Amino acid sequence: MAGAVLRSRSGSVIGEAQLAPFREAFAGELIAAGDAAYESARRIWNAMIDKWPGLIARCTGVADVVAAIRFARANDVLVSVRGGGHNVGGRALNDDGLVIDLSQLKGVHVDAARRTVRAQGGATLGDVDRETHAYGLAVPFGVVSRTGIAGLTLGGGVGWLVRKYGLTCDNVLAFDVVTADARLLTASAEENADLYWALKGGGGNFGVVTSFLYKAYPVATVLGGPVFYPRSAAASVLRQYRDFMTRAPEELTAYAALVSMPDGTPATAVIACHCGEPEQAERDVRPLRQLAEPILDAIQRIPMPAMQSLLDGAFPDGTHNYWKSTFVTELSDAAIATIVEHAGRATSPLTGMVVELYSGAASRIAPDATAFAQRHAQYDVGIMAQWTNPAESDSHVAWARDASKAMQPFSSGGYLPNFLLEEPDDLIRAAYGVNYARLQQVKTAYDPTNFFSVNLNVKPAA
Ligand code: FAD
Repeated sequence: MAGAVLRSRSGSVIGEAQLAPFREAFAGELIAAGDAAYESARRIWNAMIDKWPGLIARCTGVADVVAAIRFARANDVLVSVRGGGHNVGGRALNDDGLVIDLSQLKGVHVDAARRTVRAQGGATLGDVDRETHAYGLAVPFGVVSRTGIAGLTLGGGVGWLVRKYGLTCDNVLAFDVVTADARLLTASAEENADLYWALKGGGGNFGVVTSFLYKAYPVATVLGGPVFYPRSAAASVLRQYRDFMTRAPEELTAYAALVSMPDGTPATAVIACHCGEPEQAERDVRPLRQLAEPILDAIQRIPMPAMQSLLDGAFPDGTHNYWKSTFVTELSDAAIATIVEHAGRATSPLTGMVVELYSGAASRIAPDATAFAQRHAQYDVGIMAQWTNPAESDSHVAWARDASKAMQPFSSGGYLPNFLLEEPDDLIRAAYGVNYARLQQVKTAYDPTNFFSVNLNVKPAA
């Protein structure tokens, strides 16, 4: 056990005398080691992460966030911010410091007339989908409903509507933020425009986002779901998928994945989502259902929340996860052969490799127009090791690292921020790409002491 005592960054223990004014100012729950709620409060989605925060501050509102920041600053305590707790690298947590836990802040308000949605920083994709769907609206999010909107949006946010309506961050009209000096700011095109630019893909570097104002779209149902082909057809399916997607309409987003069926049989899946008119959707999706003889075709008209939670079952809580990913310059036949070879060596039936093309609306925005730089029309290759027995971790991690190494010759040198684990600085810089220098300027303006450091960190200028 790594301590579980609240300490300052220089290592001194924070005692009750220092904590007392914080307890007074804080309305939510303060959870420390020894408290009944501690064990569950320090758990996040990835069971591989085993961190021991000194104190977990479960905020009930913006005033609690302000109190937590003031306390941490006054006592030089390391801080991390928890939204949905789905970050694979475990950046919601820390050892011996304070977790500003937003998991109770899940309020969602839909303005149907304006087609906007205000959601608090601890909401999950599912929390928002539930409310927007009541009005026949949807926000472009990701593919697993229990993911937090905060981390996903701040890292860009890719999902089933990306080609038609762009990244999640492209659809944020305003962020309400508590900064490192505990100021309450709104960042929008009109107010604090530099911060607004930086929050669209620059991660948790600039403050705690207490609420997001999103644009929503009239998407009530879609034609979507997976079609499974035999694994023996993988190379051919991937090549056809690649060729098809270069001319696919923007209403259609589709990923290809080398995964296992629920009974453990290795398969090749193509997962599609078409948000356009029903008849057109049937016509547009048909070729993806005919890439080989299907084992199972489960593509059907489904409610949008079912689409944005379609992969929940593939990523259950409590599994161990180690992920790698990279954009490739070109999904060449050689790149496909490498993917098929390494997926074939997967050490767990829960493990998969996935190929995703975004482009469309996401790539019509210039790479420096928002902090999210990875706008080019390329395929992202995700390498996702998942297992249940911690004793086997080494072999699964080794598989993912091997597959990642094998993909390096095909890599564009670009990375999707949301899929990075603990990575060296040069890789984080590569993910921010052309925007790193400007992000550094904004970081220096809003967080010169790097108070928010447990993230894909942008270092303030010295
Ligand atoms: P947390 O672990 O709670 O937080 C991660 C980091 O985000 C924190 O360290 C902090 O820096 C920052 N943060 C969180 N909340 C706030 C806040 N309110 N204010 C400021 N900073 C904050 N990504 C996609 O783009 N598309 C997908 O389809 C997708 N699918 C996924 C599926 C699974 C099963 C998983 C595990 C991840 C997926 N991701 C996807 C990646 C996901 O978007 C990132 O891991 C993201 O960080 C998760 O957000 P969270 O709020 O749950 O994270």
